[in-house]
Parts: sequence; structure tokens; C-alpha cells
Amino acid sequence: MPLKLSNSGGEESLDTQICHMKNIFFSFSIAFIFSMILLMKGMAHPGGHYSESDKSYLNTWSLQNGETFKGNFSRADEQNLYLENESGVFSVPMRSLTEQDRNLALFKMARLEKLNQSLSIEPEQKAGFHQNWLLVGMVSLIMLLLLAPQKRKVLFLFGGLVFVYACSKAVGSTPSAPSITVIPKTRTTFLDSAFNDFKPAISTRSDNQYYYVASSGIPAHDKMIGITSWQQQVPIPQAYEGSNSWSIPLQPEYATVPLSTKTNLMKGAVAIAVNGIPIFNALNNRGEDSYIIGELDKWGGHCGRADDYHYHAAPMHLSGSNNTLPIAFGLDGFAVYGLKEPDGSVMATLDTCHGHVLNNGVYHYHGTTNYPYVIGAMRGKVNLDPATPAPENQILPQAFAKPARPALTPLKDAVITDFKAVGSNGFSLTYKIGVKNGYVNYSWDGNNRFTYTLIDTAGRSTTNSYQR
Ligand SMILES: [Zn+2]
Ligand SMILES: [Zn+2]
Repeated sequence: MPLKLSNSGGEESLDTQICHMKNIFFSFSIAFIFSMILLMKGMAHPGGHYSESDKSYLNTWSLQNGETFKGNFSRADEQNLYLENESGVFSVPMRSLTEQDRNLALFKMARLEKLNQSLSIEPEQKAGFHQNWLLVGMVSLIMLLLLAPQKRKVLFLFGGLVFVYACSKAVGSTPSAPSITVIPKTRTTFLDSAFNDFKPAISTRSDNQYYYVASSGIPAHDKMIGITSWQQQVPIPQAYEGSNSWSIPLQPEYATVPLSTKTNLMKGAVAIAVNGIPIFNALNNRGEDSYIIGELDKWGGHCGRADDYHYHAAPMHLSGSNNTLPIAFGLDGFAVYGLKEPDGSVMATLDTCHGHVLNNGVYHYHGTTNYPYVIGAMRGKVNLDPATPAPENQILPQAFAKPARPALTPLKDAVITDFKAVGSNGFSLTYKIGVKNGYVNYSWDGNNRFTYTLIDTAGRSTTNSYQR
């Protein structure tokens, strides 16, 4: 029936006018109920927050240093931009953003403020806003019931109740403030499951704060073979034990801004492999990709200036027979897996830190066969050694290697072709320059006395002993 407001009097009878009024009220109430439901639905999601369905719609934000972060705008203030992704909410300092992205954040902040003002979604105001409308709705409902013909009373009563219910729900809800994801404490049994395969060569213990790994720093697998850029260092046992053990935090916390390994942590380890061997930045202390320039053996490792064996590439060979066990733990406390997910499925897409959040809500990294191999940026909080400026800064606590002899220099064109144990406390390394072989034969005793015999490609032999 067409709706029109009639003038009073005229040819229409009083009954017809009442009938029109009832129809107007009816239409108004239906439209009102629907618009209120739509309004409330809109207000339940102020917008910008992460939800599961956002996975492929995360915005990218760029920093002046070239780093990028994926996350949706959550809120911003003068100091920080708060972004939200599947890991929770994290903040990025406004001043570190590129000018374009800082302006975008300021624009979004201004728009959100405007929207908040127009919708009055301050908790108290919002409740007042709904309480007023609740009153109007209830008065309308009573009027409708009085005016409605018998057969429509039930329909009106039902519609009215739905409206009152929706309003009462809205009054009870306040805007949810974004919460930082709390990471559950890592179970030591989980860490044990990764490290146990390498005992008794390594040993572990824990307290409330850390899981400690003690090792000699010499892996059970073959080593050194395949190095084509060699600084004449060889592996000797290190005392990674007692207070100099490797420490894995049991309660990881997300970093506000993940520390990029491109511009940081070129000194010391970033992770500890499950066989007790430290993993260093993929870049050496000159910023070069150790693997690409031939510094690493077939297992992703080599020796530092203290004759300390460590990996720079991911030790993928440690992922167990099913390739599903962690190969390492970051010094921020997050596990590093190999090419498979822990459930055996194919590795999911990695973020710029080189990891992602597992189904259980906990972050983990993955080792891969290309840069950054293990950790692109520390997703968890780490303490930095204040005595070490970036990029050669390092994480504390950290276990330290101790040299037995002065460090040597690169040996041009040497390629390591063989490395084998001699007895239980010595090794023999063979290298080639052109067609000629050279050797390093060395051993140590129980009192930390190390003896090295160097035989160069001309057959000249030099022996030196050092007390460590
Ligand atoms: Zn190294
Ligand atoms: Zn994964």
C-alpha cells in the first residue's frame, strides 16, 4: 500500500487516518530495527584490526632503513604506530617510518579520531547513546502495541523484543583494546625432545628463566670439507659449559621492532643448534654471505678466530629422520625448524624474520637453503651487549669461545679436501692449492695444551704448542 501523509480533514475518514498512522509506525519500526542492527554490527568492528581472514590482506609498512613490516593499522600516537597481524599487536616507532608511511599513519590516526568522535565510541558515551535509543525503542514498541490491529500484535511484539535484545547487548559491549599476544612459557620437555638425540655429547639443564645447553663445540658429523675460502682456522674443543653454557630463554617475548640480522648481530651467535653448535649470522663480520663466498663446509659451518666451529648456514641435516624436529633455537627462545612444518606438512610462507606463527599461536623460524638461511630478524626480544655497536653487536647471554693460538690469515686458493680424527684428541686436515697438498695436524691434552703442526704445499713443517 502506498504511503502518504494525509492532511487532516479532507475526504478521508478518521478510521482511514488511523490506518495510515499504523502503517507509518509499522514501516518506521521495521526500518528502525534493521538500521539499528546494521549500526551495531558496524560498531562491533571499529576497523583495521587483524582477523584470520586478513592473512593475505596485510599492509606493508616501510622503514627508512629499508626494512618492511606486514600488519594492519590498529592505532597510532605521536610516538608509535601499532600494527596487528597474526602474531598480535606490535609497535613501530613513527620516526623510523618512511615519510610516506608516516603520513599514511597520521592520516589513518586522524580519520579514526574523527570516526570515534562521530560515533561517540568512548565507552561511557557509547553506553549512554545506546541507553537513550533503548528508551525511544521501548516507547515506540508500547505505542505500536496499542495501535496495532490484533493480528499484527504478535509480529510487533516479536520485532520489538529482538530490538530490545540487540540494544541491551550493545550496551554491555565496550570497544576491545588490542592486546599484545602473551606467549606461553616453553616446556622443557619440548626442548628436550629436540636436544635429546645429541646426548651425551651435549648436556642440558634449566632454571626458571633459561634452558642451558653445554657442549664441546665439536659436532659429531664430518666437517671442514668443501671450504674454498679458508682462514687457516681449525676446530678445537670449547668450554661451552657451566656459566659459559648456551642460554635459551623459556619465556620468549615479541620484540617491538624485530632486530634485522642484515644490519645487526654480526658478532656472536643468533641461535644454538640442537647438537650444541652455535649458529651465527648468515653474514660474516664483513657483511658478506659466508655460504656464497665459499667460507662454509658442506654442513654449513667453519671455524672462527678462536678455532671455534660454528654454522652460518642452516644445519638442515639436524632435522631428524622425519625432518620435523627443530634444528635449533634462536637466542630469543623461538624454535627453528627445517624445510617441513612440525606436523610434516610443507613449510608455509615465511615473513621477513624468516618464520611465522604455528597453529598453537607460537612463533617459530625455519632454516632454508638460501639467504637469510636461519633468522632474518629477531622476532623475539633480545638483550644486546652494550659494549658492541651495530652491526657487530651481539646478544647476551652468550657463550664465548677461547682461542689457544693467535688467529691466522686467509690462505689464498686453498680448498679443504679432507678432515679426519686422529685418536680421541686430535685431527688432521688436508687442503689443496692447485695440485699440491698441505696439512694441519693438531692435538690437545687434558691440561688445555694444544700442539699444531702446519705442513705447507712445499712440504715445510712448523710445530708450535700453546697453553690455553
Ligand atoms: Zn664464522
Ligand atoms: Zn613453520
